[in-house]
Amino acid sequence: MQTPQMPIATRLALGSLALAIIVLALKAVAAQLTGSVALYSDALESVVNVVTAIVALVAVRLAARPENATLPYGYYKAEYLSAVIIGVFIALAAALIFYEAYQALITARPFNADPLPIAASLVATAINAAWAFQLVRLGRREKSPALESDGKHLYTDVISSIGVLVGVILAVVTGIRLLDPILAALVALNVLWSGWDVLRHSVSGLMDVAVDPHQLTRIREVIAANADGAIEAHDIRTRQAGRMTFIEFHLVVPGAMSVEQAHQICDEIETRLREAVDEATITIHVEPEEKAKHSGIVVV
Ligand code: ZN
Ligand code: ZN
Repeated sequence: MQTPQMPIATRLALGSLALAIIVLALKAVAAQLTGSVALYSDALESVVNVVTAIVALVAVRLAARPENATLPYGYYKAEYLSAVIIGVFIALAAALIFYEAYQALITARPFNADPLPIAASLVATAINAAWAFQLVRLGRREKSPALESDGKHLYTDVISSIGVLVGVILAVVTGIRLLDPILAALVALNVLWSGWDVLRHSVSGLMDVAVDPHQLTRIREVIAANADGAIEAHDIRTRQAGRMTFIEFHLVVPGAMSVEQAHQICDEIETRLREAVDEATITIHVEPEEKAKHSGIVVV
């Protein structure tokens, strides 16, 4: 079963990549011209966004591949693998920032807040804010939590960039140079936090975490509403692999029911589930009445 890939995912990943590169260039210039560690850390945060965009692009292309004899369950988990790589990269960026902040802390280094680099950083932040707004808006429209969380992550970047800018200006105005490395360390904490978030999601994906309770309830309702002729469904198990949802359960039917009839019920449930869950791979184990558990999972 080959599903056509959502072109919007590729387009957005390409857009994220292009903008991340522009933002990185602007922030690198700002960091270079000011000599500020905080602005340097802000630029490193953008490096993370560039890597994330590249890996996401590869993952989107990979996940769209059809399953084959070697990978009969498809490439959906490529997404999680790429997220682990991103998580490691983010941790590395955070370590680099901490190191630089520490260096600046023990040996005060001069920096300035000229209008040009500050303006460059402001433009970069504005680009991020606009793109974050767009991602959250599209994520809600396309019902894609991944897109929405990408956008929200970018918003936290915007907030930390604004904090850095205000801090750098304050440090120059007040002469409190310590503000610079302290702000850099705060950015590093923010970077670490987003890395943790990425890792947490990808590890639960690799561990075959079930769908969220809300969706599980929906799945049970769909089974219950479309299993006319069956007696019970039990042992429902779900797992999420990227955009694919795997659903399996036992369906109890009257022992005398023909295979043809039982199969018809299965097909009906499968069709309805696919309507409700977008992309689903469904396995149903049919068993005769005597095997009913009536353990109250889903009685249909
Ligand atoms: Zn059973
Ligand atoms: Zn069949």
